[in-house]
Order: sequence, then C-alpha cells, then structure tokens
Amino acid sequence: MRVYDIIDRKKRGECLTFEELAFLCREVAEQRATDSQIAAFCMATLLRGMTDEECACLTVCMRDSGAILRRPRIDGVLADKHSTGGVSDSTTLILVPILSALGVRCAKLSGRGLAHTGGTLDKLESFPNIRVDLTAEEFETQVRHIGAAIAGQTQSTVPVDKRMYAVRDVTATVDSIPLIASSVMSKKLASFADLILLDVKYGSGAFMKTAEEARELARLMVYIGNFAHRRTAAAITRMEYPLGDHIGCNLEVRECIQILKGKQNDLAELSLFHCAKILQYARGVSEEEGLRAAQECVVSGKALDQLAAIVRAQGGDARAVYDETLLPLAEGRQKIVAERAGYVYPNALELGKACAELGGGRNVEGESIDHTVGLILRKRAGEFVERGETLAEIYYNGIQPSPEVGRAFIIKERYEPLPPLVHEIIQAEV
Ligand code: URA
Repeated sequence: MRVYDIIDRKKRGECLTFEELAFLCREVAEQRATDSQIAAFCMATLLRGMTDEECACLTVCMRDSGAILRRPRIDGVLADKHSTGGVSDSTTLILVPILSALGVRCAKLSGRGLAHTGGTLDKLESFPNIRVDLTAEEFETQVRHIGAAIAGQTQSTVPVDKRMYAVRDVTATVDSIPLIASSVMSKKLASFADLILLDVKYGSGAFMKTAEEARELARLMVYIGNFAHRRTAAAITRMEYPLGDHIGCNLEVRECIQILKGKQNDLAELSLFHCAKILQYARGVSEEEGLRAAQECVVSGKALDQLAAIVRAQGGDARAVYDETLLPLAEGRQKIVAERAGYVYPNALELGKACAELGGGRNVEGESIDHTVGLILRKRAGEFVERGETLAEIYYNGIQPSPEVGRAFIIKERYEPLPPLVHEIIQAEV
C-alpha cells in the first residue's frame, strides 16, 4: 500500500477502506507521509467528500494514532460538551460546575482561542496560578474525586490531527465538513466521556455560516459518535450575535460568575439548556425537570461553590469566584455610542475580531494574550437605542481600539425578530 495510491483514489472520488485510512494515519503519525501528501489528501477530501462511514473510520483511525485516556472506574455517566466555537461563548465554565454539583461527572478537554473565537483554557487561566496542563492521571483523579476537571489535550493525543490541522490551516482546507467532523470527534473519542453534547454554531461568528451547513456538520458528528458507541447529541445554535454581554477573558469569566449568581441573558439561557439536555440523557428526566434542577443548583449557590472547588483542585486562586471584581480589567476605557436611533444588531465576528486586535486573541498558535482587554455590550441584539446612547465600552491597554469597531453595531430602522437561540436538536440514539 502507498500513500500516493490512497490520495489518487480519493482524487477520483472513490471511497477509502478502513485498512487504507488506518495505513494513512500511521504514515502521518510516524512522519513518513510528507506535508505535501497530507495537503493533497485534505484537498482531495475537501473536493470529493466522504461517505459517513468512511469519515467515521477516518476518525477512529485518527483517535487510535495516539494516547487514549482510560475511563476511570466510577459509576454513572461521564459527560462532555463541545462547542464548535464562537464569541462570548463561555458555556463550559457555567455548565461544568452546575452538572458536577448535581452529580453528573464532567471530563472536559478544552482548547485555546484562535482568530476571533475565545477558548476555555485561556478563560480558565484568568484565575491566578491555575493549571490546565493536567496529566492523564491527575485529570482522571480529579474527575473521580470532585466530579469535574477542565484541561487541555496532552501532546500525545491524536497526533494525526495536530499534523493535519496545521497543514489544513495553510492550504485552505479547513472548511471541509468531513475534515472538521473527524478532527473534532477524534479528540472527543480520545477522552473517556460516554455522553457527548455538541453545540454546533452557525452565523457570522461561527465556522458554519448557515444553519444548513451546521446541521450537516452536526449530523455527521452525531453519526461518528454513535458509530464509536458514545451517546452523542447535537444542538444547532445561533452565533450571529455574541452570546453573552462580555467579550475578552477576564470579562467573560466575570460574567460566568455573575450568571452562577443568578444573572439572566442568552449565555445563561443556553448554558442551562445544555445542562437540561445532558441531565435528560444522563438521568432519563424530562427536559423541564433537568432545567429546574439546573436553576435550583444556581440559586442554592452550589454551582458557584463547585466552580471554586474545580479552580482550587487545579491549583488556582479561587477568591475571584466569590468576588469577580478581583479579576483585573485594562485601564484604558472608550465608549461606543449610537450614531442614530434604531434597533441594534451587534455582529459577532466583528466584535470577536475587535477583541483579538486589542491583544485579547491570537492569530498564531502559542502567542500570549492580554486577559484584561475586551468589550462590555450595553445593548443586546434587537434592543432599541436612542442616538448618542452607549452601545458598548471597550477596555484596552497599549493597543488603541480601531475607530472601525462602531461598524460592528448595525442599527436598523425596523425591528427584525431574532432567530431562536436553539435552532434544532439532533437527538442522541437511546
Ligand atoms: N476545531 C477542530 O478541532 N478542528 C477543526 O477542524 C475545526 C475546528
């Protein structure tokens, strides 16, 4: 068997066998396949596509190319939630404490922000001294003892994805549904969760621009999860506007804490919805009962205490959990005001980019970021503003905000109803 022939077959639109995909993944992992061969394979896949089963086989072969976390010997369901990425999307930091306080263990392997999207690990690092590089053993022990852990992938998990993703990033082959699905799901399958809820976003601030594309990606990822015997469901959700009112690491963590203290907005609503869905699958309760349990957990203060327990278990200083103003913000402040009256629609992509340009995001993997910069939105999507009213406040340090940021707020004369926050659910197979 040769990598050349596998690329050639994909170029002709043929369906690759499990043996061919396993061979290809071995050649990539063991550095025998070159970057140009990986690029050619990715481009052929982008143009020719894959069958669902072929993509599921690729995913399993990618997973098996590296270390796989052992499931700890514990009773009950181990849950994971994965978002395809967005702006002001900090649902993990709200959902993990709620679910684990309610007894559903959460084993959460997360990533860092890239381009205009935020990453859970960066936000978690807003807590001084916290560690996100837990070893497999530390991760497993923490999940067993306090019911939850949030950490990064280790270097040894899914090495094929690391090489493939780096090549895709520079060869215009990121936006292939089978390649995205196999990349995301290979990492999910390398961890031990037996229940996976995927939050597949669509809209200006998401990878998938339309609900139809998001549905196709969600459907394929759910297929792969079930193929690998993991109970997997997906919510297709709106990312046209930022989910919360805060953008930027420390600001978003402040907002998560406020939500765990009772603040209501779209971010709170979606986080509680995800909790309800996971409780429904994990416990067999109705969605309404799940929602009520999650709300009561917040009101009782147990979710906040559990966030503090997670931060402490990972070596962090948890004082800010009870006083979020301890998380510092940049000194520079600038207001964005409405140039005319009307209904405001903030664009998620533009605001995510604005935060990244202030130093709050990275363009290249490994860059350091400024946790203190960002924006607070004072008006939500669809709200009426008078001319001169404040739309948002920018927090900045050395880098001055671009005068263009105001353009991210589209003001319309007529009210346009927002699409629902949750567009569709692809249910897990029971
Ligand atoms: N996130 C991933 O992990 N992989 C992709 O291909 C896209 C988003």
